[in-house]
Amino acid sequence: MSSLIQRFFKRFPGFLTCTALAGWALSVPLTAAAAVPEAATSTCRNAGLDVVVLGSGGPELSDQRASTGYLVREDGKARFIIDFGAGASLNFERAGGRIEDLHALLFTHFHVDHSNDLPALVKAAFFTNRRADLPLYGPTGSATIPTTPLFVERQFGDKGVYPYLADFLTGEAGFALKPVAVDASHAQPKLFSTQVAGFTLKAIAVEHGLMPSLGWRVEKDGCAVVVSGDTSNAGKTLDVLAQGADVFIAHNAVPEHSHDEVALHLHMTPAEIGRIAQHTGSRSLVLSHFMRRTDGAHAETAAAIRQHYRGSLAFAQDCEVYSLQSGRRTGRCATNRDHRGGGAEGKK
Ligand SMILES: [Zn+2]
Repeated sequence: MSSLIQRFFKRFPGFLTCTALAGWALSVPLTAAAAVPEAATSTCRNAGLDVVVLGSGGPELSDQRASTGYLVREDGKARFIIDFGAGASLNFERAGGRIEDLHALLFTHFHVDHSNDLPALVKAAFFTNRRADLPLYGPTGSATIPTTPLFVERQFGDKGVYPYLADFLTGEAGFALKPVAVDASHAQPKLFSTQVAGFTLKAIAVEHGLMPSLGWRVEKDGCAVVVSGDTSNAGKTLDVLAQGADVFIAHNAVPEHSHDEVALHLHMTPAEIGRIAQHTGSRSLVLSHFMRRTDGAHAETAAAIRQHYRGSLAFAQDCEVYSLQSGRRTGRCATNRDHRGGGAEGKK
């Protein structure tokens, strides 16, 4: 069933757009296949697409990792940022990222560890030649957190915490941030889909306690990278979003045998990650968003995942680069030292 769905999804990528998915998702078989199949062959036709792990950590400051962030590149050029937590801005620089090249910023949710390098990026844009408006997609709000346009307004608006950056909302700075709220309600999850500069961006609501949250999918030329966001996957919406992913980045924030009810309410277990990867036919699974409680449990995590999934499995480190075509790690972004003396032309 999973490969059939995968082929259908790739052939008709817009099919589920704006369709209520709750019933569909619940019809998905939830048990692991008895014989775990190998992942499907890639349809990815673009060898220039890759994803850089800008941050593989969560909110802790004792993990030797930047907080969460990813960069989708084409031919080495920065195209989409997905989340931008503390430290991600430095690794964006190390990855050779130029703010001028970005097509959009995508946020899974606005917890601090996913979003608080945004002001650093906006201020840094002042020192670039960027002139094209920059869309910023994120979830609709709740009593817990403002909706995306209000989140942006409260940082950079006239009455925000950084009113001196208000020109980045009006466009007087040379370009404007263009916030877009994507429906993150759980009652009737819908697959959001839009086209940006030749890429297809898709998002779907994922369960993350009280925090409105999205998973994101970036597609081009038959290639797809999916970022789970933080989620328990209680609504099984990742079963839809991750179909046929070339690289499925899943957040590993609770260990397999956790008894922490709060954490289990917010995050998915390794067994659930493995089940999703197997069910969706994801070709490559990259674990990220480690916390100390999972960073010391890689062997146990791998064993739980291997109960379900036999495809490529990696535990991400900051600055690693993964090819969408091969699904494999192809290198690391440069260090500060590599960039010194010539690699940072966007700086003034
Ligand atoms: Zn997080």
